[in-house]
Amino acid sequence: MATYIFGHTIPDTDSIVGAISLSYLKNHLGEDCVPARQGEVNPETKWVLEKFGFEAPQLKTSYAGEHVYLIDFMERSQSPEDIDDATILGIVDHHKLGDLTTKTPLEMWVRPIGCSNTIVKQMFDYYKVDIPKDLAGMMLCAILSDTVIFKSPTCTKEDTKACKELADIAGIEDYKTVGMEMFIVKSDVLNATPRELVTRDFKDFNMGGNSIGVGQLEVVDLSVFDKMKADLFEDMKKLKEEGGRHSVLLMLTDIMKVGTQLLVVSDEPEKIEHAFNIKLENGEVWLDGVMSRKKQIIPFLEKQFA
Ligand code: MG
Ligand code: MG
Ligand code: MG
Repeated sequence: MATYIFGHTIPDTDSIVGAISLSYLKNHLGEDCVPARQGEVNPETKWVLEKFGFEAPQLKTSYAGEHVYLIDFMERSQSPEDIDDATILGIVDHHKLGDLTTKTPLEMWVRPIGCSNTIVKQMFDYYKVDIPKDLAGMMLCAILSDTVIFKSPTCTKEDTKACKELADIAGIEDYKTVGMEMFIVKSDVLNATPRELVTRDFKDFNMGGNSIGVGQLEVVDLSVFDKMKADLFEDMKKLKEEGGRHSVLLMLTDIMKVGTQLLVVSDEPEKIEHAFNIKLENGEVWLDGVMSRKKQIIPFLEKQFA
């Protein structure tokens, strides 16, 4: 029986590449693993897969009776609905401790660093397994994506070290330029519908019984959103109603200016204002220096809703 390896719902580059890189390592170690994904591949990830000649992992959303490894998440709200009927053999992740639990002992590689693929790189080193050139290139891109080319406060020395080593293996000299190319692809938002944009990198959290959804779009210039703000707000309102959510937040992150325009639709906007000690104007505010959902947004919301 094959073991499936997959990342969170609404997969990002780290989730997709992590499923592939961890499957490669596990297969090399004698396990029988298949990479999978819980949702559509986003444009950035598509670009990375094409650049290095990989196919997207198979789409699979039901795992009852299966053996699985989770990569890049451990939250119930980001899991398949029947996760309780699967056997979780292990977790490789760089997020806060989630609310999933297991019935059997498991392997856990969890570190407070910038990217799951940095952990996978460390696992390759630990087991002394060589990383193929093209896989190294993809893992490099996953780390550059998650760390926003090292600008995110989640980025650590371990991530920059892993990037340098992966770039060497991949034969990529100017890897920061590759990172910028990737973010320029990511910044192309003009042909997408508001729903595609709001949910492109969207995560739901359960905070004290309240469903809070937080999306993020990372671009090289926020002016691309000037004409679509009203439509984004309109769709956030719909998304909030449809999912019975307490709040929907959208982070419009400017990776050059290093900061985030935060859009808020909430039953209790004053709680969001409290969380960040801010005053919303027409539902939005600029947060200087804010780049990371997991480190600079979620912990402050959790405190408000605890
Ligand atoms: Mg992720
Ligand atoms: Mg990640
Ligand atoms: Mg991210």
